[in-house]
Amino acid sequence: MIKNFDDVMDRLQELNAKKVLLQLPDGLKPHVFEYFNRLSEKYTVVVSSDPFYGACDISTPDVYRDVDCIVQLGHSEIPNIKYPKPMIFMEYRVEKNITIEESVFQQLRDRGFRKIGLLCSIQYIDQMQKVGAFMQSIGFEVIVGKQDNRMKYPGQVLGCNFSAAHSISSEVDAYVVVSTGKFHAIGAQLASSKDVFILDMHERRLNEIRPETDKFLRRRYAKLSKARDARKICVVADTKIGQYRIRLANKIVEQAKAQGLEPVLLTANDVRPSDYENMRCDAVVFTGCPRVSLDESDKFPMPILTPPEFQQIFGIKENSHYVMDEIVAVDEIPS
Ligand code: SF4
Repeated sequence: MIKNFDDVMDRLQELNAKKVLLQLPDGLKPHVFEYFNRLSEKYTVVVSSDPFYGACDISTPDVYRDVDCIVQLGHSEIPNIKYPKPMIFMEYRVEKNITIEESVFQQLRDRGFRKIGLLCSIQYIDQMQKVGAFMQSIGFEVIVGKQDNRMKYPGQVLGCNFSAAHSISSEVDAYVVVSTGKFHAIGAQLASSKDVFILDMHERRLNEIRPETDKFLRRRYAKLSKARDARKICVVADTKIGQYRIRLANKIVEQAKAQGLEPVLLTANDVRPSDYENMRCDAVVFTGCPRVSLDESDKFPMPILTPPEFQQIFGIKENSHYVMDEIVAVDEIPS
């Protein structure tokens, strides 16, 4: 249950809202009756049962057109998105006291790493501050990187944005990502040449992420090699408000044509592998959330590539290393 739900009620009152759309991530859906009943004391409430990905996804206009406000639980705002409705974001934070032993950080000392860049996923932002204070007390220099306009907090990373890591890359010896799942740490490693460690707050262990990243890259390059012979390419712009990169999709189409390929430009709000199978395409270049290509590629019968992967495979950009797809800003969706 979100602890400060009273704040949602106060802010709705300030907004003089009457009708509210409520979006919950899967982890909070078991509490939907509590939230619905609470909000319904004062407001007309519609709950979106669609899966949603984060602050980049507020559903489609037919769902939110008639509401006065959208309440989204669990995620933090993406500041540079122009939301069409007033938004209330209630972030989910891990608040319990987690004690990390000094010995956990010994491997950083053994490797001669003294200046440490701290990163975290949003749930662990408070924990990251505590970890930073502790690391400083045992002799490390801790630096928290400034984020770009897509991110709300210093040090925060998303699967599509590692600006907080880039901003301090020349200052740190290594990074520690305070999180649980591996994806953010793998993303940080792909986005940086410095060593990245994940401080797993469940296991209270510090693990180097490079071996996992190398495994990820081997699997990824095996998939990408299958795309080399592709001729018919579906280039997809996702119409979610925080994933819409139509200009990039158009650019990929032009680049594909220049390579003698046969591209088709598509828009989609729901990415269904069967759609592309029906279109008999050889590969998909997906300009929405990079996690679709990187995390969900097994669902697709054909290779699904991020834009930088496409550019690398077809020799449009020569990169000496794997380039992570990051979203800095999105295009405005025409109303
Ligand atoms: S684009 Fe993907 S990684 Fe970025 S906020 Fe949305 S769901 Fe998360």
